[in-house]
Amino acid sequence: MLKYIAVFFLAFAVLCPLSVRLSAQAEAAAKCAHCQKEKFVSVRAKNGAGKEVPLCYECAMLPRCAYCEMPSEAETAGGDRLCRECAKDCIKEKSEAEKVMKDVRQVLASKFKMTSKHRIICELGTRRELNLEADGEHNELGWFDPKTVRDKPQYTIRILTGLPRDVYRSVAAHELAHDWMDAELPHLMDKPEIREGFAEFVAWSFSKSEGNTRMTEYTERRTDDVYGGGFRKVRDMMGDAKTAPEWKKVLLKEFPLKGKKTGK
Ligand SMILES: [Zn+2]
Ligand SMILES: [Zn+2]
Ligand SMILES: [Zn+2]
Repeated sequence: MLKYIAVFFLAFAVLCPLSVRLSAQAEAAAKCAHCQKEKFVSVRAKNGAGKEVPLCYECAMLPRCAYCEMPSEAETAGGDRLCRECAKDCIKEKSEAEKVMKDVRQVLASKFKMTSKHRIICELGTRRELNLEADGEHNELGWFDPKTVRDKPQYTIRILTGLPRDVYRSVAAHELAHDWMDAELPHLMDKPEIREGFAEFVAWSFSKSEGNTRMTEYTERRTDDVYGGGFRKVRDMMGDAKTAPEWKKVLLKEFPLKGKKTGK
């Protein structure tokens, strides 16, 4: 018995340094995904497509992109740092922003039967402008603004300028969910946890249907009570409900409309 144990330890002693040597060689031979140089890499970072890639130590020290884990080189007009890949396809023109918003609206209507008749004004804004609107609450990516202008309702969605296309699409879905709730379930608009949780749930369902893993993971990772907590609460509530009319039923059951006021 002792002999077998001795053989086992001997084999372990020989093989162990060998495997360490082999993995060190594999790491040394790898190419840094940022500087493209063959360097000692052992740090891994998720790129915009959600794929893990190697980074050398030097590049790992650089400031990172706001929308993935890659080192950043440029700044958006909105003031965020972006990596090379994320900077390639960004929404910074109003005409493009309107076009993509229209497309997201169509996708929400066809996949989730989420429709609203509101005419929506679509605008881009800097982070400073968005934070001013949100009273500096937190770093806003988008803002849904329903108001009354000359006795007529007016709906505006403003999104941070320079977002990568897939991030913009997900934020647009979030804001359009607010618009839908404003039309269908206005009594829930002053419940922050349900309002934001539902919008996150819609953006998450939309991103999932587009295979946009970075945005589904972004929502799943949120830890704050209103957005993260609200999202998990609404997702659990929805169960098998897959479309907006079904979501409406679930929400109405959970939060019934108060008896209609008379005399007004
Ligand atoms: Zn590098
Ligand atoms: Zn990036
Ligand atoms: Zn929101």
